[in-house]
Amino acid sequence: MKLFKTLPVAVFLLISCTWAQPVIHLKAGAAGARTAKMLPRHGRATHFLLQFPTEPGPEMRRELERRGMRVLQYVPDAALMVASPVTPDLAGLPVLSAAALEPSDKISPLLADQVTGALLVVFHTDVDMVTARVEARARGFDVLENAGVLPGHLVVSGAHSALGTLAECDDVAYIMPASPELAAGIPLAGCAGAVTEAGPVGEYVLVSRGWAKDAGGNVALHYFIRSLTNKMDPATARSEIERALGEWTRYANFTLSPGQQQGAERTLDILFASGGHGDGYPFDGPGGALAHTFYPAPPNPEAIAGDLHLDADEPWRSGANVDLYSVALHEAGHALGLGHSDRPGAVMYPYYKLSTGLTDDDIAGIRALYGSNVAPTPTLPPTLPPPPTPTPTPTPAPPPAPTPAPTPTPAPPTPGDTTPPSLQIKSPGFTITSTTAATIAISGTASDNVAVTAVRWTNSTGGAGVAAGTASWSANIPLLVGTNAITVRAYDAAGNSAWRALTVVRR
Ligand code: ZN
Ligand code: CA
Repeated sequence: MKLFKTLPVAVFLLISCTWAQPVIHLKAGAAGARTAKMLPRHGRATHFLLQFPTEPGPEMRRELERRGMRVLQYVPDAALMVASPVTPDLAGLPVLSAAALEPSDKISPLLADQVTGALLVVFHTDVDMVTARVEARARGFDVLENAGVLPGHLVVSGAHSALGTLAECDDVAYIMPASPELAAGIPLAGCAGAVTEAGPVGEYVLVSRGWAKDAGGNVALHYFIRSLTNKMDPATARSEIERALGEWTRYANFTLSPGQQQGAERTLDILFASGGHGDGYPFDGPGGALAHTFYPAPPNPEAIAGDLHLDADEPWRSGANVDLYSVALHEAGHALGLGHSDRPGAVMYPYYKLSTGLTDDDIAGIRALYGSNVAPTPTLPPTLPPPPTPTPTPTPAPPPAPTPAPTPTPAPPTPGDTTPPSLQIKSPGFTITSTTAATIAISGTASDNVAVTAVRWTNSTGGAGVAAGTASWSANIPLLVGTNAITVRAYDAAGNSAWRALTVVRR
């Protein structure tokens, strides 16, 4: 089931709508008519979705703040998520509706098919996490500690039969499956979401608007690289960014070509910046946020629409963390109009992973926006990647570290070790292979300047696990019919990692 394909749903908050009314798109889709619940809790902020007839500009946001509300997020089209400690005073304001999210709005559609497994609980952005933990535990959920989660996120485990009770909690904004890495406590870098000039967009929102077609019925976009990182050689950095952009163009009906100048219409400006850089979303130094991206126009105005900003203070690399290709691939999805996917393993899941290309979920998402550019073929799955370009020899240790790059993961046992392991897949001997079997045995070797602590694998069709052994490792990986994009990663104690990928088509 493809998330994007199964949710073409527009939920109207309004009792009576005309064709011109703005529409709210939620991932959880078709909730019934919503009742205006505006009963604040004693002494605690309550969360309301306020919908307006036209986009609420900065003046409206300031007026709401003046009336004691806290504006938390922008919800396309033309709505704001606000927190208020008292019944909001909306007198005289052009508010079409004011209502809390329904519990059913907060549960990922993917959880309908899933009865076990760790959950990623997203709280409203003003909720303090001590309270959040108390609220999750009070409903029977255990908190799985992960030092890498984004502000407002908790990874929990518990009976899925209690999901509804958790969703009834006003502080909870959304509940989705946790990836195996998050559940295992592996610290991952998260994407704080694509942003708009009116604020970030929540995980409960189904973002589904790409760039409009031009007069000729085409979507012809450009990109302009304004600056590069000094952590990588410029040619490599540029080619990794272009490789990420190119991956999206392989599957859907739009073009992306080099632009002639920054800030031009339909142009994705790409830049590296440090700290505050004038867009209201300052970067935070090494770790934390790695990048952010502005959605297409509308809702963002031209010039900034589609622009992709990367934190210049991260230790950018190729093929190991922080992997420029993987982050640029995710952010380019936002620049093209995609929000986050709830599916662990997808490139557009809110936590970055080392990626070798798009997954079926991402491809379905981009095709929902622009249509497929590929005629279905009878023999091969349409998502089969091309033979990988020969990567330069197994990522050698970087030259004697000229800058003491801070490690992005907390409390490394070997401070200062920034050398990633190296990793080889010995069997199978091809990076693309096909089989009719339900599993594939893979094996290889890994080494590190200190020690390899674990070799883990993930499969784009859902599984993940730890290989037996480290210096010499092996794993038996379950396959689903279709394309299984398998990524193997070797980690050292400092959190450095290296990866190799393998595509297995099960017929
Ligand atoms: Zn993101
Ligand atoms: Ca950062």
